[in-house]
Amino acid sequence: MHIDSFFAFSNSSKGEEDFLIFGIPYDCTQSFKPGSRFAPNAIREASWNLESYSVYFDYDLEFAKICDAGNVNVDGNFDRVVKNVSEFLSGVDSIPIALGGEHTITYAVLRNFEDVCYIAFDAHLDLRDEFDDNPFNHACVTRRIYELGFDIVLIGVRSGTGEEFRFAKENGIALFHPWHDFGEVVENVRKIVGNGNIYLSIDMDAFDPAFAPGVSTPEPFGLNPIVVLKFFEEFSDRIIGLDVVEVVPDSERITQTLAAKLIVEFIASRCKR
Ligand code: MN
Ligand code: MN
Repeated sequence: MHIDSFFAFSNSSKGEEDFLIFGIPYDCTQSFKPGSRFAPNAIREASWNLESYSVYFDYDLEFAKICDAGNVNVDGNFDRVVKNVSEFLSGVDSIPIALGGEHTITYAVLRNFEDVCYIAFDAHLDLRDEFDDNPFNHACVTRRIYELGFDIVLIGVRSGTGEEFRFAKENGIALFHPWHDFGEVVENVRKIVGNGNIYLSIDMDAFDPAFAPGVSTPEPFGLNPIVVLKFFEEFSDRIIGLDVVEVVPDSERITQTLAAKLIVEFIASRCKR
């Protein structure tokens, strides 16, 4: 038996790794259920329940160079968090894997990238201009990312205001719903991405609450997480940054285990190619 405070398959030091896992335990603007600040450590804990071998991708993570570098300091306001994340990522040439925290942390990570298509699995559009008087609320993260100039694809969408849906339509943001055939989603995303790179954000509320009950804002009629394996199979060689956000650890450890498993499968799929 072994349970520790770092991601179970961390085996390299920072600077020697191909995958850099780090936590951003920030959840100051969550609008419903709070607590995603506890997710990075809960995901790490859950990872100890998993095997290093991926059955789906036939790859063992013991052959991947993975560093869990701990958590970024989130004392102070969001500006401070943005600066700390940029400092943390400066000089990094491996694939960062950020453990949120609320969805706002994606902005802090993504602004260190150029020339990527931003793809998010999310129940929500997160296109509000502001929420609770705050433009850096978790319900605004896609809007702030749009303003950075990235192409945007959202998968699993089933909640938002009429205004947000209008904004998406008028500004070329591609939306896919859980009732779309996933094979067709993949076809469409392939056309949108072309030969470009992808930054992938997984807001865990994209999945049905039956699969991921521990999220800040649960939303019925969600995705089956199996689709992410299909997504990795198709696109992992283009994914140059990943985050997993909005986990509010649940007492049965279901949601944090799924989050840890998605990271394992991403690394396996990426190495396999
Ligand atoms: Mn979100
Ligand atoms: Mn969401």
